[in-house]
Amino acid sequence: MIYLDHNATTCPAPEVIAEMVDVLQRVWGNPSSTHGPGQAARRALVDARARVAAFLGCQVAELVFTSGATEANHMAVLGALAAARGTARRRLVLSAVEHPGLLALGRRLAGEGVPLDLIPVDAQGRLDFAAAKELIGDDVALVSVMGANNETGVLMPIAELAELAHTHGARLHVDATQLAGKSALNFAASGADLMSVSAHKLAGPKGVGALAVRKGLALPPLLSGRQERQRRGGTENLPGIVGFAAAAERAAATLARDLAHMRFLREHLEQGLQRVLPASHVYGQEAARLPNTVCLRFGTLDAEQVLNKLERAGMLASSGAACSAGGTQPSHVLLAMGESAERAKAAVRFSLGPDNTADEIGRVIAVAARVIGPLLIDQTAALAA
Ligand code: PMP
Repeated sequence: MIYLDHNATTCPAPEVIAEMVDVLQRVWGNPSSTHGPGQAARRALVDARARVAAFLGCQVAELVFTSGATEANHMAVLGALAAARGTARRRLVLSAVEHPGLLALGRRLAGEGVPLDLIPVDAQGRLDFAAAKELIGDDVALVSVMGANNETGVLMPIAELAELAHTHGARLHVDATQLAGKSALNFAASGADLMSVSAHKLAGPKGVGALAVRKGLALPPLLSGRQERQRRGGTENLPGIVGFAAAAERAAATLARDLAHMRFLREHLEQGLQRVLPASHVYGQEAARLPNTVCLRFGTLDAEQVLNKLERAGMLASSGAACSAGGTQPSHVLLAMGESAERAKAAVRFSLGPDNTADEIGRVIAVAARVIGPLLIDQTAALAA
């Protein structure tokens, strides 16, 4: 099997699993308990928090562990709106290409009366900054924009957005889920007030993530309770949090090498596919992108057909976001980039990981030429007939 769907999720690393099993077996106490097992769990939690904070470039007191990025995103948006309640700041501004979960939250809130605006993107998937300037005013409570898009890998201008938001007294939340492990994260230097991440995108476990909350920012909790300095109730998911710490440490240790390796393989894949299948169109090719992601279509061949062929050859990629795979809806990201529904449904995403090899990429290119090439010829013939 050649796994090229790392933006959907990753296989947990052996050292992550080893640390988690150790915690499950040995450190099973409740970190809130005052007895021995509880205090051992507390120490493991403190240690894991320091490791994840170092990875994110935030202070330990700024880190709130959550059940993943979806929860962190909800905490950021609902918390920032709640914090601004009673003031003239009521507006929520998102980008049009946010993760489906965040957009669904935005639409739900809009239905409840929260004024919502979506910042458009251009044909390359880049944020329309001129539009952002028009939309972000003194009535905005929160601007929430992802660090990198999960489907195209296109990067968003976080530092500029932070400056813009702060000029108007608004907060900036960054969903950095796809940046983690694919770019050096530095919450302190980013300018963001809030930042979401998820462990399972960087060889950590599913069901654990974090929200970094800028020191001094009073953010009402989503889940009430005593844990996480009253910011997130519920007994801590210690095995998951320790697994997250192991994954973060591992990713940081090899980051520079991994980024160069993935970028090299991505270029190899992208150029190879364009060479053997000239009808390939790469999305966001002119934009600054994550080093591991290539989103493209082969003419207008339906993505499902392409993915089936690849999977039969043992190669796993995805159509747009995994969250919408199986559905027949075209990707909202590609529609926002101005693609037609027909073309958007042809989009296939390859997302690489540090363990992919040049040999694997060579095999993917060869198989694509063999199995997709004839489909393209058939389609061209059918269109000409
Ligand atoms: N935001 C982005 C940009 C994502 O790619 C994902 C994962 N698909 C999420 C949020 C949700 O993360 P989680 O699975 O941890 O809830």
